Amino acid sequence: MTVHTMSTTRTGRWRLAGVLGDAGQPPARVDAGGAWELVVDDGVITTLRPTPAGQAGQVDRDDPAGPRDDPAGLAPPTALVLCPPLLNGHDHGRGPGTVDAGIPDAPLEEWLDTLGRPVRPRGQDELVGLAADAMLRAGVGAAVFCVNPTGPDVVGEVRTAARAAVARGIRAAVAFPVLDAGGDRRGRRRGAPGAGRAAVDALIADVERLAGELADEVAGSPAAGLVDIQLGPVGPQWVAEATLARLAEHSAATGRRLHLHLLESPGQRAWADDVYPDGLLPAMDRLGLLTERTTVAHGTQLRDDELALLDERGVTLALNASSNLRLAAGVAPIARAAARVRAACLGLDGLALSDDHDGWAELRLARGLWQAQTHRRVPGAAALALATSAGRAAFGAAAPRPPAEGQLADLVLLDLSPWRHLFGHPDWPLADIAVAAAGPAHVAEVWVAGTRVHHRPEPSSRPEPSSAPAPRPREVPA
Ligand SMILES: [Zn+2]
Repeated sequence: MTVHTMSTTRTGRWRLAGVLGDAGQPPARVDAGGAWELVVDDGVITTLRPTPAGQAGQVDRDDPAGPRDDPAGLAPPTALVLCPPLLNGHDHGRGPGTVDAGIPDAPLEEWLDTLGRPVRPRGQDELVGLAADAMLRAGVGAAVFCVNPTGPDVVGEVRTAARAAVARGIRAAVAFPVLDAGGDRRGRRRGAPGAGRAAVDALIADVERLAGELADEVAGSPAAGLVDIQLGPVGPQWVAEATLARLAEHSAATGRRLHLHLLESPGQRAWADDVYPDGLLPAMDRLGLLTERTTVAHGTQLRDDELALLDERGVTLALNASSNLRLAAGVAPIARAAARVRAACLGLDGLALSDDHDGWAELRLARGLWQAQTHRRVPGAAALALATSAGRAAFGAAAPRPPAEGQLADLVLLDLSPWRHLFGHPDWPLADIAVAAAGPAHVAEVWVAGTRVHHRPEPSSRPEPSSAPAPRPREVPA
């Protein structure tokens, strides 16, 4: 497959006003007021280090030969700060959003009925592609796409979803849906038979064939390694125990990751307590589901002992605060999870509060809940870690490496110029500025796996050079 839509810019050089390291801290010495030099050469970060002096700002975008000539001094100094890309630890790819699709917010179990009957239906290419476009504009460099099939060809839809992610240049974990005891929305019986061993083995064979095929399509290209295919048992209440055990066995044998919803709604909590009076999570543990190869999404209704078990097993937990509000599922347990689960991260679930895939607003909401739940200020660096380093494992082989010399460029250049008067102020570490105020409008560039996949349009207010003709007013049809 030829990737036509991906930008091919893989080289650049910048002077930065600061650097946010992987957990929101500067990677080397604290040098918030000084400039940093960043050089990316053929996709690889060759230089990332403080410079002794100099004007922080953009040296140039594409030409490593030297600073851009700007004799008129028209270009305002831009305070670019390097940040790791935000990671979206749980999503589905819902196109421009569920409002566009005509699916009203509602309690989860009701909402699921309308999810399959959108006013504006779209295929996986648009569902994943348009969502990926919006995420990249916001600085989200990787997302988990749990495919919700729109028709009977599940293999075909997962293939299309993965190709859409590759075409957009976003790193993606694409979860192949497994659902064999979903007849009752409220949840299966404990001994529900499911699809049976032969059918599950056939499904696993389909997944492995598809993963190999997709890897072959991009082998040797810059898109190699962008996609990790995962097994997606939709949730324990809708998948038979025998099936869950078989998928866990396959994961243990091959390393293929699992991604499933867990205790998202009060209804699911009630099901778990009814069907597993001795504990759903211990049962999942016995089935082999709770390992460092597993991500669970939501966990809105998890108790402290259950959070502790997830952490003990190395499970990644993707919290989805906006989605939980929109689907009347509860308040995401940000503070309890952050205190107990090392790999507690954030997901948008395709249900950002403003229906716009804005990872920064989600981060701000999560930090706000964390503060409200503890009555304490949460440092920006700790909040930023939820949206960056904590979620890396969810992406398996497609996970980005932290920005550092010698690594492929996976990074966001944030334009924090409006707040440059705060740089170096002891109350305002760069992470606190970013978490407090950054949004898609401040995302100047996004690089994924060594390729620039998004750059902000030049500001429209920038003066034209005097020799250029005045722009013609746009004709507006009457
Ligand atoms: Zn979900």
